[in-house]
Amino acid sequence: MLEDIRGIPNPLFRALASGLFLSTVVTIPATAVLLLLNPKNESTHKLIVYAAIASAAVGTVSGLAVGKSKPTASETAEDDARETEWKDWRKFVVDRKVKESESITSFYLKPVDDGMIPQFVSGQFLTIQLDISEQSKPVIRTYSLSDYIESTSHYRLSIKREPAPPDTIAPAGIASNFMHDRINEGSIILAKPPAGKFVLDVNSSQPAVLISNGVGITPMISMAKAASLLNPQRHIWFLHGARDGSLHAFRDEVNVIAERNPNLHIVYCYSRPNLTDEGKYQRKGYVDIDLIKNVVAPEMQNLCGSTDAQYFLCGSPSFMDSLRDGLREWDVPDNKVLFESFAKAKPKKREQAQGLTQESTQEHDSMEIVFSKSGKTLNWSPADGTILEFAEANDIFPDHSCRVGVCGTCMCKISEGEVDYEETPTASIDSGSVLICISKPKTARVVLDI
Ligand SMILES: Cc1cc2nc3c(=O)[nH]c(=O)nc-3n(C[C@H](O)[C@H](O)[C@H](O)COP(=O)(O)OP(=O)(O)OC[C@H]3O[C@@H](n4cnc5c(N)ncnc54)[C@H](O)[C@@H]3O)c2cc1C
Repeated sequence: MLEDIRGIPNPLFRALASGLFLSTVVTIPATAVLLLLNPKNESTHKLIVYAAIASAAVGTVSGLAVGKSKPTASETAEDDARETEWKDWRKFVVDRKVKESESITSFYLKPVDDGMIPQFVSGQFLTIQLDISEQSKPVIRTYSLSDYIESTSHYRLSIKREPAPPDTIAPAGIASNFMHDRINEGSIILAKPPAGKFVLDVNSSQPAVLISNGVGITPMISMAKAASLLNPQRHIWFLHGARDGSLHAFRDEVNVIAERNPNLHIVYCYSRPNLTDEGKYQRKGYVDIDLIKNVVAPEMQNLCGSTDAQYFLCGSPSFMDSLRDGLREWDVPDNKVLFESFAKAKPKKREQAQGLTQESTQEHDSMEIVFSKSGKTLNWSPADGTILEFAEANDIFPDHSCRVGVCGTCMCKISEGEVDYEETPTASIDSGSVLICISKPKTARVVLDI
């Protein structure tokens, strides 16, 4: 009953209902007891009236105070996803394909079933599945949602073409090249609902600094748009690094938002600008900690009276490492720095990784992993890397995507033993399940449903 009253959205009706409820609950038993003890006494009657008035007043005031707190943006998004009952793969058609820079192309997706699509929280991503004829199984990848409009009618993904690494015989990126070369307007792809915890709470009034380079701009543009639309009073710094103008996606789009929102402060840094880039960027060089300390912080102090801010980082692994180290050295607490990795950082030197892992798992010389569905029982050692890497090396190919514990695609059931995570996973993990892309065995025997 109390929960029902708490849920009444209109504060006046909630206060009346609460007053009536408390007055009834207090007055009826009090009346019964007092009348039983002293039925004829006039002061008994007065006492009953006072009790009724007092309890109604207390109920009304508490009714005003205890309304259900406003749902957070991610709660609303989860509710929306529930309403549409979209949990697994859903078909989307590419409605528009737009080139954003020399290397990044956007894909506007609409559901084939013409149904509603849930609003997402800016910063979240979609996991997509592609049927690529040369691949033995569907290819699953994760892409940030790069747009934000108030009533979502489409999703936009903006994908960088990943070329083959120079001086190697390694192949070019599978999914990104397939999207660029073979996905066109009218193509169908499968997607799971928006997910992810790298999100901007638009209701907060704390200044935010969005820092990206390269394709790391995708969640940032969504955040800048959401904040400018829903909370334009909030001061946001948008720092972006690109080699030159030809590789700088969304420059005009972000400039338009900033023209409308004076509280969105932009700094573009080009490391090797072309002559034609003159006037299109603010600084030559990289986005680094000195830019934050010497340019952003004084401006923020001046405009906001403090330099207490939230930092969002997304970009190449080395870029994020150097900024995270810089912010830490500058005494910015870790809980003020949120980051999203699109790619796994370079693996540590083998000997180093071995040394570290052996220390934490020294109790067990040989650890056994049972891949129950594949019918394989194998001995793992620290040099074998993560459970996913170990599985792949032994011709077991579980579903996976990000390899950094973000997307949750590699989640599987564990029926025996425990695992250790190399880094804290950001994906939500079901109870009795583990993510294998960033974990290794912790106990002598681990049984996985793979
Ligand atoms: C949360 C999240 C959000 C993301 N958002 C975006 C986004 O908005 N936009 C975007 O473009 N990307 C985004 N990504 C990255 C994206 O998911 C893919 O990882 C990216 O597109 C590369 O996929 P691919 O299939 O093209 O490359 P893959 O085939 O996975 O290869 C990755 C790289 O490794 C190289 N490679 C392949 N084989 C070898 C080998 N044997 N030796 C050495 N190198 C090799 C490839 O050339 C390529 O450069 C995001 C990732 C995450 C986790």
